[in-house]
Amino acid sequence: MTARPSPTLAGISVANVTLDEALARIAAWLEQPGFRRMAVVNAAILLEAERDSDFRATLAAADLVTADGMSAVWATRWLPRLGGGLVARVTAPDVMEAVLARCERLGYRVYLLGATTEAVAAASHRLRHRFPALAVAGARDGYFAEADSVAVAEAIRAARADALFVAMGSPRQELWLARYGPRTGARFALGVGGYFDILAGQRKRAPRWMQACGLEWCFRLMQEPRRLWRRYLIGNAAFVLFLAREWRRAGERMRA
Ligand code: UDP
Repeated sequence: MTARPSPTLAGISVANVTLDEALARIAAWLEQPGFRRMAVVNAAILLEAERDSDFRATLAAADLVTADGMSAVWATRWLPRLGGGLVARVTAPDVMEAVLARCERLGYRVYLLGATTEAVAAASHRLRHRFPALAVAGARDGYFAEADSVAVAEAIRAARADALFVAMGSPRQELWLARYGPRTGARFALGVGGYFDILAGQRKRAPRWMQACGLEWCFRLMQEPRRLWRRYLIGNAAFVLFLAREWRRAGERMRA
């Protein structure tokens, strides 16, 4: 699709695409049979992938992986050894919004899986308001037992969903989609982290300028300091160390 070289981070090839290029790929998938899943990576997800080989393999096997965080984009630009500087950040919320608009236009059915019962109901309600012609095939919370996963997947299939958005946080949403996604009958699925809470109006998304400066984490930290301080403050330092390891590993690969 593109001649731009894609960098590898934590053993995962991150697609070097713009939002429009990613959307073109997804648009084609929606027309074709088969299940395709997309995932996004940011600093916290890459650290987890480095630590957890199952998660890493799950991400590496996704049909499309893009960088959701500015720090990951910058890292690929500063460290050419990683295989190529990313042209853009392609976030899960931006992809979801664009795919929803497309589904509304083309009559594809969408399913929302994740967050609390109240949040997913509110998110679905607000989406119906914003996209009046959108067919929301169904919505359910993300707090079910692992043992109920097959039933959840079958319910999505019964709802005849074409596109599936899963907001259960990482790594749960990615692992769930890899395992049960094909049973849902959807043709495209994407993990969107905490975005249903934002759609529901329970949490705010950072303003665009903060996103562009790579300060989205700072905005989220201000909203939920008690829950997130560890993730971000320790995580950011850990990400710098992670990049040093990646740099060394890339050098070893080049010499091998
Ligand atoms: N969540 C869920 N099931 C779970 C755990 C979490 O549906 O078992 C939801 C939670 O309600 C929230 C989202 O997953 O809406 C996780 O948000 P978070 O911001 O932690 O995700 P991130 O984008 O940071 O991965």
